[in-house]
Amino acid sequence: MKVTLTRVTENPIGAIEEAACNCYNSEPTGGKIMKACYNSGHHSVLEFCDFTFHIEGVSRALTHQLVRHRLASYAQRSQRYCSENGFEYVIPPSVEKNKTAKNLYSELMEDIQLLYKELQNAGVPNEDARMILPNACETVIEVKMNFRALIHFMNERLCSRAQWEIRQLALAMKKCIEEQYPELAKYLVPKCEMHKDMPFCTEHSSCGRHKTLREIYEVYCYPMPKALDELITRAKSGIITDTELVQEFWDTFCKD
Ligand SMILES: Cc1cc2nc3c(=O)[nH]c(=O)nc-3n(C[C@H](O)[C@H](O)[C@H](O)COP(=O)(O)OP(=O)(O)OC[C@H]3O[C@@H](n4cnc5c(N)ncnc54)[C@H](O)[C@@H]3O)c2cc1C
Repeated sequence: MKVTLTRVTENPIGAIEEAACNCYNSEPTGGKIMKACYNSGHHSVLEFCDFTFHIEGVSRALTHQLVRHRLASYAQRSQRYCSENGFEYVIPPSVEKNKTAKNLYSELMEDIQLLYKELQNAGVPNEDARMILPNACETVIEVKMNFRALIHFMNERLCSRAQWEIRQLALAMKKCIEEQYPELAKYLVPKCEMHKDMPFCTEHSSCGRHKTLREIYEVYCYPMPKALDELITRAKSGIITDTELVQEFWDTFCKD
């Protein structure tokens, strides 16, 4: 996997703060206003800064997950216009470390490569020959996200419950930003750390890095308030998303 940060809005913190200053009749502060907006939920101002990444050597399975993030822009190598003859493929760590699995996996990939070529030789166009390509097939994608969308992406995909490959991508994207904009990288955290001073996990199977909401309330506030119990039950049964759970928890139990 190779990830490069190819383009960023000039003076990203300034761009966000200049937008925010319109709301408060104030002047940019080099980060304080941005932090205050983030903490108060005034997140629309974070949309005034864009990041473009060039991503290579990831699987089509990963990009299928990536493009579910609807607020980003994408340009991906076409399997209609480009030939995938001799395609490279991603090998998951679980396969890599298992000799039998790796042999089976590699054999199948080679068979698909041969068959793909045979279909092309028989006159089948790329757009139809691609039907036999695997999820593991490597691809190239350019993605542009504004800072708000990027924060949300990181909240979801830095979580240890996300699949290894997209988590690796999220980490690589964060590293690119850390190198050039460490102040902005601080906002790129898994969802359990969205509220810096009071981390909590909303996943059903927690990785244990932070306590779950239920664990926190059972210690500090037993019995758990009925409203919170209902909120957690709604999240568990999928009526509301984890993000909505965090927001509703914050609005109901944390605000003054
Ligand atoms: C661990 C994990 C497991 C997953 N498993 C599955 C799975 O099994 N099956 C599956 O189909 N998907 C799965 N997904 C994908 C998931 O359902 C989302 O499609 C994906 O994470 C994108 O999230 P999003 O919609 O919040 O993001 P974005 O599209 O980036 O949207 C960002 C935010 O904008 C708002 N928004 C965007 N569009 C709308 C809209 N049309 N209406 C209202 N609000 C909107 C929402 O607040 C949203 O959170 C999984 C994701 C994760 C992280």
